[in-house]
Amino acid sequence: MNKYDLIIIGAGPSGIFAAMEAKKRKPDARIIVFEKGRSIHKRVCPMRTTNRCAGCDPCNITTGFAGAGAFSDGKLSLDSDVGGELATYIGEEATRDLIEYVDGIYLEYGADTMIHGVQNPEAIDRLRKKALRSNLKLVDCPVRHMGTEKGYEIYRAIQEDLERAGIEFSFLNPVKELLIEDGTVRGVIADQEYYSDLVIAGIGREGSEWFAAMCKDRIDTLVGTVDIGVRVETNALITKEMTDLLYEGKLIYYTPTFDDKIRTFCTNPNGWVSAEYYRDGLAVANGHAYKDQGKKSDNTNFALLVSMNFTEPFNTPIEYGQHIAKLANMLAGGKLLVQRYEDFKRGRRTTESRLARNKIIPTMKDAVPGDLSLVLPYRIMTDIDEMIQALEGVSAGIISAGTLLYGVEVKFYSNRVKVDDTFQTNIKNLYVMGDGVGITRGLMQASCNGVHVARQLFPETSPPS
Ligand SMILES: Cc1cc2nc3c(=O)[nH]c(=O)nc-3n(C[C@H](O)[C@H](O)[C@H](O)COP(=O)(O)OP(=O)(O)OC[C@H]3O[C@@H](n4cnc5c(N)ncnc54)[C@H](O)[C@@H]3O)c2cc1C
Repeated sequence: MNKYDLIIIGAGPSGIFAAMEAKKRKPDARIIVFEKGRSIHKRVCPMRTTNRCAGCDPCNITTGFAGAGAFSDGKLSLDSDVGGELATYIGEEATRDLIEYVDGIYLEYGADTMIHGVQNPEAIDRLRKKALRSNLKLVDCPVRHMGTEKGYEIYRAIQEDLERAGIEFSFLNPVKELLIEDGTVRGVIADQEYYSDLVIAGIGREGSEWFAAMCKDRIDTLVGTVDIGVRVETNALITKEMTDLLYEGKLIYYTPTFDDKIRTFCTNPNGWVSAEYYRDGLAVANGHAYKDQGKKSDNTNFALLVSMNFTEPFNTPIEYGQHIAKLANMLAGGKLLVQRYEDFKRGRRTTESRLARNKIIPTMKDAVPGDLSLVLPYRIMTDIDEMIQALEGVSAGIISAGTLLYGVEVKFYSNRVKVDDTFQTNIKNLYVMGDGVGITRGLMQASCNGVHVARQLFPETSPPS
């Protein structure tokens, strides 16, 4: 029988926390989660051991149980201003309450009790002063760091508990179509038709393009922002003051030439640069770090992202971001490009031999030395260069010749779906959440978003019959 009380599309953090909360509230509910990727037990990224992408289809980094969270760095941002826009929809207080609740669940499953960024306020103030002198705004957010390997273990235990609780997971079974009649959702089409009066989509950045196609002419959207930039890799000593104090301090800058907003994002001290693969093998840069001392690199990586806002008549920012990423992939034979900062400044290609004698050894071995100026618009190149110069005031040495820039990093959360404060779309009983619809940008807020939506659908806790 294909009739369910609740259908969830996507088993990322938003989907699994929605399923968990719905089951807690209504233990008898028949819930199915459709997931494009694999069960967490079968998720293996060969690149993590070989440093070479094996081109798995679907990609094990972005799809499967726990979505993009399974092999992420596992940083849980504990401030309502970081990692998404939840507070804009439901208010600061409700967001803070949800963060506390969800953080408690991650702790129950074994997340590290240590919180970074709260130990030494005087030293943080000194850092803030340095940032201000360079016209940078420092956003210090308390962070709990699960680490890639522990995060994976936590999500594995969650999958096993949810399955024991009777939630059905349908892996390697992407939803292809939404069944909508008279402005109300009735179910979905995956390998066959499945029916429910309640459908939640938590499709992540991986699914945002597919969902944008679903929205066309029936689900209301707003033109979103697309974030485009590079992943920077430097010696961990250069950023040590900041990463020791905050683990991840976010710095925001408005560039002198274009007055564009550019920010640091997703810092991974002693971490590894990695690639995320999207539809048609599109490779974009990312990074992560292990908790285990034996798996630490000598480098720190972080993203520099420029927020691109478009105005009419342009309304397809995802395609814009993809176009730029495709250009980089085209020049690098389907891989990521890497360029030394000195070569970036001088407008010349980084060659194999220049890279071989570089002081900073790339942690991503199959990135292809190349020239980002053949890929990035002049405006973004200028923004990145001006930001790196400003960062020198906080992390002296970042402007050294050998700093590495991997291209490109693009965040595809730009298909912003119009929702009310329950996250219901203009289609009755169709709810959306998470990164793929432009609401969140991180594990914590995606998980909180899932809990919030489930509570809207099942406001009362009912005992099992
Ligand atoms: C390498 C890396 C490191 C990261 N590090 C951090 C970090 O340290 N801290 C942090 O806060 N965030 C981090 N992130 C981001 C974080 O992983 C995401 O913000 C979070 O996972 C978003 O959750 P989500 O549920 O919205 O989407 P996702 O986690 O992307 O999950 C969406 C799921 O939906 C599935 N799906 C998509 N379309 C369909 C469909 N049609 N049918 C069925 N299933 C579908 C996908 O396969 C995917 O499994 C990192 C991401 C990556 C890739």
